[in-house]
Amino acid sequence: MSDLPAVLGGNPVRPQGPPAWPLADPEVFDALTRAFRDGSWGVYHGPDCAALEQALRDFFQVEHVLLCGSGTCAVELGLRALTVGAGAEVLLAAYDFPGNFLDIHAVGALPVLVDVDAANWNLAVDHLDAAHTPACKAIIASHLHGGLVAMEQLSNWARERGLAVLEDAAQCPGALVQGRPAGTWGDAGVISFGGSKLLSAGRGGALLTHRADVWQRARTHALRGNLVCPLSELQAAVVAPQLRRLTERNARRAANVADLLRLLNGVPGLQPLANPRGLGQPAYYKLGFQYDAAAFGLPREAFIAAVRAEGIALAAGFPAAHVGRSPRRFRQGTPLGEAERAHRGCIVLHHPVLLGTTAEMDEVARAIRKMEEYRDALQGCQIPDKTGGPDDVAAGE
Ligand SMILES: *Cc1c(COP(=O)(O)O)cnc(C)c1O
Repeated sequence: MSDLPAVLGGNPVRPQGPPAWPLADPEVFDALTRAFRDGSWGVYHGPDCAALEQALRDFFQVEHVLLCGSGTCAVELGLRALTVGAGAEVLLAAYDFPGNFLDIHAVGALPVLVDVDAANWNLAVDHLDAAHTPACKAIIASHLHGGLVAMEQLSNWARERGLAVLEDAAQCPGALVQGRPAGTWGDAGVISFGGSKLLSAGRGGALLTHRADVWQRARTHALRGNLVCPLSELQAAVVAPQLRRLTERNARRAANVADLLRLLNGVPGLQPLANPRGLGQPAYYKLGFQYDAAAFGLPREAFIAAVRAEGIALAAGFPAAHVGRSPRRFRQGTPLGEAERAHRGCIVLHHPVLLGTTAEMDEVARAIRKMEEYRDALQGCQIPDKTGGPDDVAAGE
């Protein structure tokens, strides 16, 4: 009886709901009080942005960092700095953060949509050839939901054809891809300090690059007498202590993911996104799953709503870029069958619970197992999606 799903009148597994984010970090509290005392919360310029840039250069082992107002803005600055503009084409996974598609439009270029890999629903490097034309000037490669893109192969492929690579590591600061920090393989890389991200300042982002010319052009675009999309001193002050804890927290999340996936092993229709062995160590902003409604026996939206009612922050993934859009706004580079499947079947678990205890991993698994057990009873019921909590996915964040 206690195992009845909450949407059918049972007790939710987590009546308190998902864990809060951002964390109540004592170091962030210290940074905030220090910023109040010394007045740096209200100044244009100060040492905090410079200190964060240095800390990011050290952490990522990269020569240049440009802080800015969001990850989305960093992608646009990156494209401009790579001289991608009107008439150019940019290769992009058809399943990706929607802002990347729109950033390509923002610089006057055309997205060329490439299918995603069948096992991890991230950009499929072996499909790039089929989509490539001489008009292609750049590739955006995002590591999504615990999936990783094979950046070494992608970089080699791009170099041979003279394409620039923009690596979107907004979801995985601290991840390792083929021996290098995610975000540092490309001509430019991007991270985000958005309010739901692993490093949070409410808003914010950064462009990373080894190339002085790319950094210089990005800076020129960002500087119009004043900075057009700055990160503030206050934001920099709160990110710095989180960066110092990132490696330890990423390890904690990864260990919990391993536990959770063991507990969920064998649930029909629920497959974790799977990277090729040896590709690297993901970082988990979202833990992504391939959900097969027919195999599980419940429509995706009903499954998500029922699990959310248990107090678990599960959500649908991104919409695919080509679905519901005018075909004039992109070129279809390859068949998009896997992106279509991701559009219909991707499910993500939001990261805060992944810093929890073993008992909390049990809770997540128990909530999902409830739906497996009660799928027939859940069939016909109208499930309102009334779980509050951070707006982690609606805006694609
Ligand atoms: C969140 C996100 C961004 C953009 O970051 P914002 O700071 O929210 O603008 C870009 N790419 C991916 C993959 C993201 O998840």
